[in-house]
Amino acid sequence: MSGLSETARRLPRTELHIGGRWRAAADGAVHPIINPGNGQPLGALSMATSVDVSAAVVAARTQFETGAWSRLSGADRGRLLWRLADLVEANRENLAYLEAIDIGRPYFEPFMFEIPLAADTFRHFAGWADKIGGSTFDLPDFDGRQRHSYTLRQPIGVVGAITPWNAPTMIASWKLGPALAAGNTVVIKPAEDASLSTIRLVELIEEAGFPAGVVNLVTGSGAVAGDALVRHPGIDKISFTGSPGVGRRIAAIASEALKKVTLELGGKSPQIVCRDADLDRVIPGASISMFANQGQTCASGSRVLVHEAIADEVTERLVAAAQSVVVGDPFALDTQMGSLVSERQLERVDGYVRKGKAEGARLLTGGSRIDRPGSFYAPTLFAGDNDLTIAREEIFGPVGTIIRFRDNEEALQLANQTDYGLTSVVWTRDLATANRFARQLKTGSVWVNAWGPPHPALPWLGVKTSGLGSELGWSGVLANTVEKTVSVIS
Ligand code: NAD
Repeated sequence: MSGLSETARRLPRTELHIGGRWRAAADGAVHPIINPGNGQPLGALSMATSVDVSAAVVAARTQFETGAWSRLSGADRGRLLWRLADLVEANRENLAYLEAIDIGRPYFEPFMFEIPLAADTFRHFAGWADKIGGSTFDLPDFDGRQRHSYTLRQPIGVVGAITPWNAPTMIASWKLGPALAAGNTVVIKPAEDASLSTIRLVELIEEAGFPAGVVNLVTGSGAVAGDALVRHPGIDKISFTGSPGVGRRIAAIASEALKKVTLELGGKSPQIVCRDADLDRVIPGASISMFANQGQTCASGSRVLVHEAIADEVTERLVAAAQSVVVGDPFALDTQMGSLVSERQLERVDGYVRKGKAEGARLLTGGSRIDRPGSFYAPTLFAGDNDLTIAREEIFGPVGTIIRFRDNEEALQLANQTDYGLTSVVWTRDLATANRFARQLKTGSVWVNAWGPPHPALPWLGVKTSGLGSELGWSGVLANTVEKTVSVIS
C-alpha cells in the first residue's frame, strides 16, 4: 500500500482490555483476522469467553461504584472526552487504514467521513458532560411543612455496548460518547468481522487518561461474548447496533431482567424522487446512498421510488452512474467501491440478486461478483415493484431497486409499506411537498435533497423493525441516565 507511513499502518494489539490490562482470552482462543480485499491474514483476534466477559463487567462495576471515575466532575469527564477526540483526529490515518484492511472498504470513506465524525461525536458529548442535571419543582406545603422537590439525573451504571462491522469507530463513538459523558462505565464488544479499529480506539482511550476499568474491551463472537454480556446481571443497559434478528433476541433477554436497551437496527430506506426533483443532485446522491461502503450501510437508500414521468430518464442516468463506479483496491486513489466484508456476505448478496431475477425483477446492471482476489461485487440495479423480496428485505450490499409511482400519495404509501423505518430521502424542489412527506414518512430521520449525513447533535433512531430508543444529541444523554425524584420536607 503506497503513500501511508508505517505509523499509519500500525496494527493494534489484538487482546482484550479489562480493568486497564491487556490480556489474552481466558482459554487462549483466537480467530484469524482476514483482509477481505485480498484474502490475506492480518493476525489473530482474541475470542473472549463468558469468564472474560464477567471479569470485564466486574472491572466496570468496581470503577463505577468506587473508582476515581465516580468522583470526577462533569467538566473533568468532558476534558477526557475532548482529549480522546484530539487523539482520534491525530490517528485519523491509522483508524481509516484499519477499517479499510479489516472491512475491505475504500480508505477515503472512513478517512473523510466516519473518523472525523467520531471525533466530532466525542467533542459534542464533552460539551454535554457538565450540563447534565435535573429540575426543581415549586409545590404546595405537605402536612403544614415546607416541601422542596427536585430531580437528579444520574448515570445508569454499567453499559454493555455491542457494535456491528460496517462503521465500527463511528458507531463505537455514538455509544461511548453519551455513556461516558453521563458518567457510566462501559464494556464494549465489537463485531468479530472487524474489530481492529475499535481495539485501536480503546488504546487511545487509555492514552487519553481515562481511569482503568472505565472502558473495557471484549472481542469475540456474538454467540459467546455478546450473549454473555447481554445476560450478565452486572450490566444495567445494553446499547446494541446490528441486525433486527439479533436485536430481537437481545431485547427478549434484557426485558426478562428489566435491563434498559437501545436498539439501532437495519433499514430498507426509500428515496422518493418527485417529478420536480433536481436530477443533477438526485443521481450522484442516490447512487452514493446505494453504493457507499459497498451498500453495507444501515441507511442505504436501496428503494428508489421515482415519478413515472421522469422514471426513464432517472433509470438511464442511475444505470450510467452505477456503471461508472470504480470498484477495486481500497487504497487506490480513484477507487469508489471496495470489497464486501466477507465471502459469506457476498454469498448473501448474490442470493438476493438470484431471488430478484427469479421473482421477475428486471436486472439493469451488475448482478455478479467481480473477478479478482477478494469479495468484490458489481454495483447492481433492478427495476421492479415494492413486493419483491429484494425491495422488502435488507440486503446490506450494493443492490438497489427502482420502483415507479404515479403521484405523491402512491409514493408515500410505497415508502411506508415496509417493516423498516430508519431513514428516508425526499428529492423535490417544493418545500411544501418536502414538509408534507417529512410529517408522514414513518422513519426515524427524513433527509430532503441529500443523503445524510448524521450529526452528533441530532437524535439517531429507527422506528418499527429499525430500532428502539435514540442515540446522539440530548436524546443520547437521556438514554444513558436515569432520573431520580427527591422531596425534602422541612
Ligand atoms: P449482527 O446483528 O450480526 O451483529 C452485530 C453485533 O452483534 C456483532 O458484534 C455481533 O458479534 C453481535 N452479536 C451477534 N449475535 C449476538 C447474540 N446472540 N448476542 C449478543 N450479541 C450478538 O449485525 P452485523 O452483520 O454486524 O451488522 C449489520 C446490521 O447492522 C444490519 O442490519 C445493519 O442495518 C445494522 N446496522 C444498523 C445501524 C443503525 O444505526 N441503525 C448502523 C449500522 C448497522
